[in-house]
Amino acid sequence: MQKGKVTFVGAGPGDPELITVKGLKALEKADVILYDALVSEILLSYAPRGCKFIYVGKRKGKKEFPQDEINKLLVFYAHRYANVLRLKGGDPYVFGRGHEELVFTTRYGISAEVIPGVSSAIAAPSSAAIPLTKRGVNESFWVITGTLSSGEMSKDIPYAAQSSATLVILMGLSHLKRISSIVYDLRSAAEPMAVIEAATSANEKIVTGTASTIYSAANDAGISSPAVIVIGKVVAERETLLDMTRPCYNEINLNQ
Ligand code: SAH
Repeated sequence: MQKGKVTFVGAGPGDPELITVKGLKALEKADVILYDALVSEILLSYAPRGCKFIYVGKRKGKKEFPQDEINKLLVFYAHRYANVLRLKGGDPYVFGRGHEELVFTTRYGISAEVIPGVSSAIAAPSSAAIPLTKRGVNESFWVITGTLSSGEMSKDIPYAAQSSATLVILMGLSHLKRISSIVYDLRSAAEPMAVIEAATSANEKIVTGTASTIYSAANDAGISSPAVIVIGKVVAERETLLDMTRPCYNEINLNQ
């Protein structure tokens, strides 16, 4: 039986141009691509003619594609094609179950490679001009899942809220009300917060506010998934930038 290789590629956060050069090169020689809902379909146009496309993401109003079926599909195609590409939104190893899939295929003796991607955890704040770190403001950032597989909110959120860290919460929109009240209690009512939907894509929406205002602001703006929640003083840096309405026209003299 022919044994192909599975390459796990991070597609980046939304803008198709944010895939890595290495990821794009792998895409250009793929025989089969299994891709998720968060992947920009424009990327598929870079695949060679005859490439098979298999959508394994959530279907509208339906449940997630079962993980064990995805695992089996990877092995099935790797037994039949040389280059099987598993294209995942953001980075395949950030809340992406990429490692589970890699372990499964490796168990079948299939060689695998991971090509990292730009995670929405980094790209969403960055493209919204929110620095994840700023000298003198914060010393770390936490990337947390808002929702556990049980549907409950992660207990790491109140824990992280007690630090000075910037919090980046993925899959947290359904718990936004609770998250903002935790931030209100453990930091302050004025703690800056942002919600960024469909970051780096044409449909990007950015809403900023504070622990006391963000929930209604996000609702008023009709924010929906996929969205990243960013919490911390660094969020106010975006406002500082937007407030700079009067440009400085002074000549810069390098000799002084
Ligand atoms: N591996 C992905 C994350 C998968 S979990 C990554 O590295 O980005 C899915 C969650 O990621 C979504 O619920 C949302 O919280 C976040 N997400 C992914 N793409 C996003 C985007 N373009 N804008 C905002 N959030 C995004």
